[in-house]
Amino acid sequence: MKKNLTDYSRGYLFWQNAVQEEDWRTALDSLIQSLREILVFDNLAIFIIDKDGETSEIAYARAVGREKDAEADASWGEEIAVRVIESEEIILQAPEKTGKQKKRRDEAYLIGLPLKASGKIIGALSLIRFGGPDYTKEHIDLTNLAAGVIAYIFEKRALQETITKLEAIQRQMQLQDDFVSTISHELRTPLGFIKGYSTTLLREDTEWDEETQREFLTIIDEETDHLTELISNVLDSARLESNTAEMNFQPVRVDVVIRDVLTRISSHQKDLEINFNTQDCGYIPGDSAMLTQIFENLFSNALKYAPNTPIDIEIDQSHEDHLRIVFADHGAGIPKDHLPFIFDRFYRVPDVPNAAGTGLGLFICKQIIKAHHGKMWAESEEGQGTRFIIQLPVK
Ligand code: ADP
Repeated sequence: MKKNLTDYSRGYLFWQNAVQEEDWRTALDSLIQSLREILVFDNLAIFIIDKDGETSEIAYARAVGREKDAEADASWGEEIAVRVIESEEIILQAPEKTGKQKKRRDEAYLIGLPLKASGKIIGALSLIRFGGPDYTKEHIDLTNLAAGVIAYIFEKRALQETITKLEAIQRQMQLQDDFVSTISHELRTPLGFIKGYSTTLLREDTEWDEETQREFLTIIDEETDHLTELISNVLDSARLESNTAEMNFQPVRVDVVIRDVLTRISSHQKDLEINFNTQDCGYIPGDSAMLTQIFENLFSNALKYAPNTPIDIEIDQSHEDHLRIVFADHGAGIPKDHLPFIFDRFYRVPDVPNAAGTGLGLFICKQIIKAHHGKMWAESEEGQGTRFIIQLPVK
C-alpha cells in the first residue's frame, strides 16, 4: 500500500465522483487515477464480454507505472482475464521463484477480478505490478471494490447505448405516425380536386363553355401529375430503403442533367434567378433518371422553402476522385436542432409556413447518392440560406 488506510475513505469518495461522471471514459480515468493513489500497479486492462457472450474484447487499457511503454499492448492481461471469466473468481498470479536475479519487467504480479453486474459476469479486470510485492488481502479487497464500480460504469454505458437506440426507434415511430396523417392529407387534396372538377364537368344540368372546360381539365391533369409524383415518391423511398431500387448506370454528365432540370423549371418559373456557371463536366457513372430526381427535388425544395431568392449551383471538378456539387439557396435556412434529421425518412421541420410535403424528398436524394457510392449533406445558417453538398465518385 502506498498510503495508509484512512485513504480508503478518500479513495471511496473518488470513486463516487467517478460514478457521477457522464462519460464512461472520463469516469474510468478518474477511478483509475484514484485507485492508483492508494494502490501500486503498473498497468490495468478491462475486458468486456461481447454481446454474443462468446468472446471478450479489450475495452480499456491504461499504463500508469514505470513500464509505460506497455500502454498500447494489453495482451499481458488477456490470458488471466479469460480464466477469470471462465471461473468467475479472483485469480492471482505471481512469478516463479527461481532464485535467479531477474529484471523488474520480468517479475510480473498479476491479479484478475471478475466484473459482475446484476449478478452476471460481464468481463474481467486485470492488473499488473512489476517487481512485486504480492497482493495482500487489503489490496485484493480494494481492487475488488474498484471492480464493482467498473462493472457499474460499464452497465451504465450499455444502458445508455440501449436508451440511445430506443430513442432513435421512438423518433422513427413518431415520424411514421406523422407520415400517415401527412400522406392521407397529401393524397386527399389532389383526389378532392380531381373528383370535384370531373363531377362538375359531368353535370348534365350545366353546359360549360370550351374555355372553362379546358381550365377544369388542366387542373385535373396537374393534380393527377401531382398524385403520380407523390405515389412514386412513396414507392421509390420504400425501394431505396430496402435496396431493391433498380439502378441503370451509364456514363452521365452531371452538368447536362442539371441544365435539363433547370430548363424545365425555368419555363414554369420565369422570375427564378439561377446562377449556374460551369465548364463542361467529364462523364461519370450514374443513373441519369435518378440524378435528375435529386435536382428536381432540390429545386422544388428551394422554391418551397426559399421562395424568391436566387439559387447558386457550382460544380467543382478539381478533385481527382470525385465531383462536388454545391446547390445553395438564400432562404430562411434550417434551424440547427433540425438540420441533423432532414435526411431521415418522413422528417419535416415543424411549423414551416405554407409548405406541403411528405418528408421523403431529401431521404430519396441521399439514398440515391448512397447508391452511387457518394455523399450528401447540408449546411445551413438560419436567415442566410441552405447549402446542399453532393460528392459523386468519378470512377
Ligand atoms: P418535404 O419537402 O416533403 O417536407 P424533404 O425531405 O424534401 O421533405 O425535406 C425535409 C425538410 O427539410 C422539409 O420539410 C424542410 O423543412 C427542410 N428543407 C428542405 N430543403 C430546404 C431548404 N432549401 N430550405 C429550408 N428548409 C429546407
